[in-house]
Amino acid sequence: MVARTDVAVVGAGPSGLTACCLLAEAGIAVTLLAGKARAPEADPRTIALMQPSIRLLVHLDLWPGPLMAQSAPLWKLKLVDDSAGLLSAGPVVFDAREIGPEPFGWSIPIGALTAALEGRARGLGVIFLEEEAARLQTSGAAALLRTASGASISAPMVLGADGRNSLVRSAARISTVEWSYDQTALASSFDHGAPHRDTSIEYHKDSGPLTTVPMPGQRSSLVWLERPERAEALAAMPEADFARALQAALHGDLGVVSNVGPRRLFPMCGLTAQAFARNRVMLLGEAAHVLPPIGAQGLNLSLRDAATAAELIAGAMASGDDPGSPDVLERYDRLRRRDILPRQGAVDAVNRSLLAGSILPHGARVLGLMLASGIGPLRRRIMQQGLGPPDLPRAMRAL
Ligand SMILES: Cc1cc2nc3c(=O)[nH]c(=O)nc-3n(C[C@H](O)[C@H](O)[C@H](O)COP(=O)(O)OP(=O)(O)OC[C@H]3O[C@@H](n4cnc5c(N)ncnc54)[C@H](O)[C@@H]3O)c2cc1C
Repeated sequence: MVARTDVAVVGAGPSGLTACCLLAEAGIAVTLLAGKARAPEADPRTIALMQPSIRLLVHLDLWPGPLMAQSAPLWKLKLVDDSAGLLSAGPVVFDAREIGPEPFGWSIPIGALTAALEGRARGLGVIFLEEEAARLQTSGAAALLRTASGASISAPMVLGADGRNSLVRSAARISTVEWSYDQTALASSFDHGAPHRDTSIEYHKDSGPLTTVPMPGQRSSLVWLERPERAEALAAMPEADFARALQAALHGDLGVVSNVGPRRLFPMCGLTAQAFARNRVMLLGEAAHVLPPIGAQGLNLSLRDAATAAELIAGAMASGDDPGSPDVLERYDRLRRRDILPRQGAVDAVNRSLLAGSILPHGARVLGLMLASGIGPLRRRIMQQGLGPPDLPRAMRAL
């Protein structure tokens, strides 16, 4: 028997769950293929979500509340040129107070965020199938999904939020451009002797950025990009040795490092889908774009994917149109392309300027830091751009 639904979502990461919540609150019937073994609490990362993403959480009644109590505001971002090149720039501080009364955003444990979104999606009546999608046919007036146990779901629209190895993307015959970096990110968290003063610090080192992001109290989360062998060695170190290595890498700026949390490695790569929508499918989150964790862009882009998809689908259905029509898919592709591609390009350029070891990209990055430090209007423009594009989906706009 084939179960019918308005929209089928594949993947219960933060992108898929956000889309489920927004669609269900618009009165659209949603079935989520959530996969089997999910353990978001085990993920040691915190995620920096900027104000537009926080407004989306407010819209979903998830903020303020218990999630906020586990999170810390981000008022300042400090960039430190810590590379060994001939040219060097002084630190640049971006202060949210220069552009308005709110912090840039909040640093939120990704496990708590995912659990809160899942609770909201269930509360809004999303049907959860604790199964993986095994096949997808996209020809005709509806897409047909099959699970490993043989269940079938038919929907005029499928959202592929099934991560970087997306089955939905391949089934919709969307190719990708993929590349890798000679880097692995080590994610963890730690206590420190000096206060972080609500400041995230990004040290630009020759092996990539090392970023600390405030958590409540005298604790910060860590994303440390290193050459793969060095990252593996750091992950395998006894805790006391790792704490010493980290304290040295931070030049003691946060005082004594202690109480290091679980360490997890993420090999660094990039991916761009060549189309963000095709054949009754829209791609969300890492199914559409993967980028290194620099400047906190990945999940903020993904939530804008989810909000844009939900708005276009709800709009089409409200006017009695087919939500999977080429028109709707083309609009999604166009809107997401102009947000995703420039940000992915900028993150890639900063990362490669560190890894290249040659004078030109290094000099361009140092010059950029100097200009941002010295020219107020440029600095404020960079801050505004970092928060997100001006044409946000409705659920993310200021009231
Ligand atoms: C170290 C690190 C730090 C980061 N920090 C930040 C930050 O500060 N700010 C920021 O904005 N971004 C950050 N990011 C990026 C962010 O983590 C990702 O953008 C985000 O997690 C992507 O979520 P997603 O839902 O698209 O994918 P995922 O979380 O990968 O979810 C995909 C889900 O789909 C499921 N799935 C796969 N195949 C199937 C199938 N066939 N059927 C059903 N389910 C399936 C998977 O099991 C998974 O649950 C960071 C990334 C890294 C690596």
